[in-house]
Amino acid sequence: MDVAIVGAGFTGAVLANQLAHAGHTATVFEARDHIAGNCHTARDAETGVMCHAYGPHIFHTDDERTWAFVNRFGRFMPYVNRVKAITGGRVFTLPINLLTINQFFGKTFRPEEAKAYIASLSDTSIAEPVSFEEQALRFVGRELYEAFFRGYTRKQWGIDPSELPASILKRLPVRFNYDDNYFNHKYQGMPEEGYTALVERVLAVDGVTVHLSTPFDPSRKGEFNHVFFSGPIDAWFDYSLGRLGYRTLDFEPFRHDGDYQGNAVINYCDEDVPYTRITEHKHFSPWESHERTLCFREFSRLCGEDDIPYYPIRLAREKTQLERYIALAERETGVTFAGRLGTYRYLDMDVTIKEALETADLFLACAQRGEPMPPFVVRPLG
Ligand code: UDP
Repeated sequence: MDVAIVGAGFTGAVLANQLAHAGHTATVFEARDHIAGNCHTARDAETGVMCHAYGPHIFHTDDERTWAFVNRFGRFMPYVNRVKAITGGRVFTLPINLLTINQFFGKTFRPEEAKAYIASLSDTSIAEPVSFEEQALRFVGRELYEAFFRGYTRKQWGIDPSELPASILKRLPVRFNYDDNYFNHKYQGMPEEGYTALVERVLAVDGVTVHLSTPFDPSRKGEFNHVFFSGPIDAWFDYSLGRLGYRTLDFEPFRHDGDYQGNAVINYCDEDVPYTRITEHKHFSPWESHERTLCFREFSRLCGEDDIPYYPIRLAREKTQLERYIALAERETGVTFAGRLGTYRYLDMDVTIKEALETADLFLACAQRGEPMPPFVVRPLG
C-alpha cells in the first residue's frame, strides 16, 4: 500500500522507516532542500566544524525503545549538556544547582541548607502555579527568577512570563547538589556524524523514496492510500482559520580562532543583551578538533509567513484556534497529523521519535484489521 509522508524530519523519517520495513511503499515529500528538519547538521566549509544549522539539538531520552532505535543508525558519542548563563555581569552554571545558588548568594550551603534558604525565598502563597512567573516565584523566589528567567524568557517568547504557562519552566530542573547536567534523562548523547547522516540512514530502506524541495499539495491526497503529515496543521487547511503563532529564530554566525567561549551554550539572561544565547558548535562534538571555531548568536522573534517555525506559542488564543483546527482534522479522512508542527506542540526530538514509532505501530495494526487510522494518535489538546 502506498503512503505519502510529508516532511523528512525525525517524524517523517521514522514513519517511512517503519512502514517500509512492514512492506509498504513510502514516498516522502520534503519542502526544504535537505532532510532532518530543524535537526539538520552540516559541516561548515570554512572551519570544518559540524554545525547545528537550526540551533542546538542535544539528544536525551528516558525511553528505551527510542534510544535503541536511534542507536541502530549511528554511533552516539557521550555528551552532557552543561549550560552557562551570564546575568548581571557574572557567569553561573545552569540549570540552577547548588553551585549557582552558592555563587549567586555568596554562600557555602550544603544541600539541606540551600533547600531551606530557597524555601525561605519562595512565594508559598502560590499553591498551584499557573503561569511561568508563578512557577518561578514559587520554586526559586524573586531574585533568581529575575536574574535567570525573566529577561531571557521575555526575549525568547516576546511576552511577559506572567502570561506564559508554567509548563515551559517545568522543562528545567532545580537541583540542590552540584549536578549541572541540563537534562535529567537516563540517556544523553550526540550522533558522531551529525543528525543529518543519522536521518539519512533512517530513510535508507527499500520502499522509501525521498523528494527534496517538493512541497506536498493536500489536493494530492487521493493519489495515496494514506498521508502522514508532519508539516504545520494549519498549512494543511490552507490557513483557513488563521495562522497558528510560532516563534522563529535568527542566527548571526561568526567565526573566530581557537576557542571563543569555552562551552557549547552560554545563555544571556539580561534583557538589554538582544540575543538569548551564543552557541559554539565545535563544543557539541568534543571528540573532534578544529583550529577555528563557528558560533551563532541566537535571536528570537515572532514567526512571519515566510519564516521557519520553531516554537509553538500555545497561549489561550492559539489553543482556541488549535481546537478548531483539530475539529477540522478529525473530520479529514486518510490523513494523520504528527510531529511538532503537525500537532503544534513544543516537542523534543526523543518525543517525536517515540510518537512516530507508536503512530507507525497503530497504522500497521489498523491496516491489519482493515480499520481506518484514527485522526490523532496523540490529541494535541486535552
Ligand atoms: N529559560 C530562561 N533562562 C534560561 C534558560 C531557559 O528563562 O537561561 C526559560 C525560557 O523561557 C525557555 C524555557 O526556560 O524558553 C525552556 O528552556 P530550554 O532550555 O528548555 O529551551 P530550548 O533549549 O528548548 O530553547
